[in-house]
Amino acid sequence: MGNESRRLLLVEDEQAIRDAVAAYLMRDGYIVTAVEDGQSALDEFRSHQFDLVILDLMLPRVPGEVVIKKIRETSDVPVIMLTAKGDIEDRLIGFELGADDYQTKPFSPRELVSRVRAVLRRVHSDTEPQREIFEFGDLTLDVSAHKVFVKGEEVALTAAEFKLLTTLCRYPGRVYNRMELVTKVLGYDFEGYERTIDSHVKNLRAKIGDDPHNPKWLYTVHGVGYRFEDPTKSN
Ligand code: CA
Repeated sequence: MGNESRRLLLVEDEQAIRDAVAAYLMRDGYIVTAVEDGQSALDEFRSHQFDLVILDLMLPRVPGEVVIKKIRETSDVPVIMLTAKGDIEDRLIGFELGADDYQTKPFSPRELVSRVRAVLRRVHSDTEPQREIFEFGDLTLDVSAHKVFVKGEEVALTAAEFKLLTTLCRYPGRVYNRMELVTKVLGYDFEGYERTIDSHVKNLRAKIGDDPHNPKWLYTVHGVGYRFEDPTKSN
């Protein structure tokens, strides 16, 4: 696959670095969205799909570690952190928060570009071979294309709803408790977030047209959590 189709989000407050890196990446064929602070990064991330994020740790408005935390709540997009030279602690923080790689400053744009290439290669060699499509009666999930269809009509799901559905449907009949779903779907584990799973399930049901009182796919397991059933198989 050519770089033309790869969209990158570059978050760096130092204009000289931002411009140089963006220029190099674009010359390499990537589509680059460059922003200068953490809040703009989150706004961009919410409204567009990116294949990779390059994220400076020290940023105005919202710091890099908060940005990556927020990103990881809904996405496993590869993230390369930019950190100050020799700052091992920053590097560790980056990995702990889910960065895929880091680049210490100062660096040459060329160095960063080859890192971007390597990370994308790694990520896509892991995920490209299998094209995962699941069918459960009227419900079709194209996991690799990130698409869901009900009776052939595409249904727009949020990242969390999509993750929830794909997590549950991989093992029809298996009961997942809310905590497990919080960890798998939202990527963190605070007790207070269990309720958010309920609202994601509620929204998901509304979107795919599943009646909670007479479900086709998503079953509530009272006092525990949820399970998915394949309506084409007898239970
Ligand atoms: Ca900075």
